[in-house]
Amino acid sequence: MPRALIIGAGVAGPITAMFLLRAGWDVEVFEADATPDAFAGLFLNVATNGLSVLDQLGLKERLLTDGHRASSMVMRSGSGRELGRVPNGPAGDPARGSVIVRRAWLHEVIRDAALAAGVPIVQGARLVSIDETSDRVRATFADGRTAEGDVLIGADGIRSFTRSWIDPGAPAPRYSGLVGTGGFARVPGLEPTPDTQYMVFGARSFFGYLVRTDGTAYWFANLTSPEPARGSLRGIRSSDWLARLRDLHSDDPAPVPGILAATDGDVGGYPIYELSGVQRWSRGRVVAIGDAVHAMSPSAGQGASLALEDAITVAKCLRDLPTPEAAFAEYQRLRQPRAAAVAKYARAIDARKRVTKSRFGIAMRDRMMPLFLKKAANDTRNDWLYNAEIPWDRSLVRR
Ligand SMILES: Cc1cc2nc3c(=O)[nH]c(=O)nc-3n(C[C@H](O)[C@H](O)[C@H](O)COP(=O)(O)OP(=O)(O)OC[C@H]3O[C@@H](n4cnc5c(N)ncnc54)[C@H](O)[C@@H]3O)c2cc1C
Repeated sequence: MPRALIIGAGVAGPITAMFLLRAGWDVEVFEADATPDAFAGLFLNVATNGLSVLDQLGLKERLLTDGHRASSMVMRSGSGRELGRVPNGPAGDPARGSVIVRRAWLHEVIRDAALAAGVPIVQGARLVSIDETSDRVRATFADGRTAEGDVLIGADGIRSFTRSWIDPGAPAPRYSGLVGTGGFARVPGLEPTPDTQYMVFGARSFFGYLVRTDGTAYWFANLTSPEPARGSLRGIRSSDWLARLRDLHSDDPAPVPGILAATDGDVGGYPIYELSGVQRWSRGRVVAIGDAVHAMSPSAGQGASLALEDAITVAKCLRDLPTPEAAFAEYQRLRQPRAAAVAKYARAIDARKRVTKSRFGIAMRDRMMPLFLKKAANDTRNDWLYNAEIPWDRSLVRR
């Protein structure tokens, strides 16, 4: 039975493992963090295309039990005016809209399913070295442990060790110009926003929120900022973040100041990076997937969903093609153009989020956006983002 070493138990790693198990592979997942997911604090969008991958493993319904369906996004100006409504899923098909979930919940659903399927997940195993021979690959971990397999799949995120091993000259992540932050709040009297997430072009920072039926508001803010020194944001206390955010958003329309006033849990900040232009996704028996080869800002709400698409695709390629080299070449051929197109889309959204101080710029945006977005609710031009079906049961090889 062929054996895959999978590095990283974030989104893509355990999903790849589950598909490979179905294909008759032996798998083992190695995760650097000693305990499951230290960075589970916030929430994220799982888009229609990502849900379709989870559905094929029978995980979608469980995920939806604690999700906020948001099939559209409403854009508002800093004065509170509605600028337009855009689909967050295939246009005119709200039942297939994307869903917003706490990151901790997404990880729990994936991890529980992987363990239940019999995928071993080794925590506290940080990959530090890869050695390849003509028919095996060996991984060495920081504590000296080693493991051997037929292939190694690096689902080790934006700071991927695997990517650098495949190509020491691979591009490094680039700062997007935005710092992300966010949290949760209970605001008395705040109406739920079923099916919808709101985005506000605040005067000094971009703000997004939704309100679940139980009255909990999920919110995030994107601050336009020079690149912070590595690790420097970690030392900032929640109370300091909140004080800064309350000030930045004090002139913004309701319910933005109210949500920030009512937030009392942990609030942290993280610089948003993207990674594009990685040319080599594999070398011999080693391949990288997900954020390790194409990380994009959260603006498009697609990073996790593309990682899920990569996971099913790489597993299909290993199932259907005769050698790891052939499988990995086909995987990159299938995935690279789509990842590049989605990343381009995410960058275009980031550009709109960066705060302009020019009054003229703000006036133009508030005037032009409603015209652009007038028919956006039924505009199918972005459906390509969501309608990527990757059926597990369809072979890549014509019989
Ligand atoms: C705050 C935030 C908000 C986001 N919002 C969205 C959103 O709304 N929608 C969306 O689709 N995407 C969003 N994203 C992006 C999304 O989280 C990623 O695209 C997705 O998690 C990528 O999955 P992955 O499996 O490739 O990597 P990850 O989920 O990052 O998993 C990588 C794993 O590898 C482990 N690892 C790293 N190095 C090693 C090593 N050397 N050895 C062993 N293990 C290692 C890490 O600990 C981690 O568990 C957001 C990201 C952030 C940071």
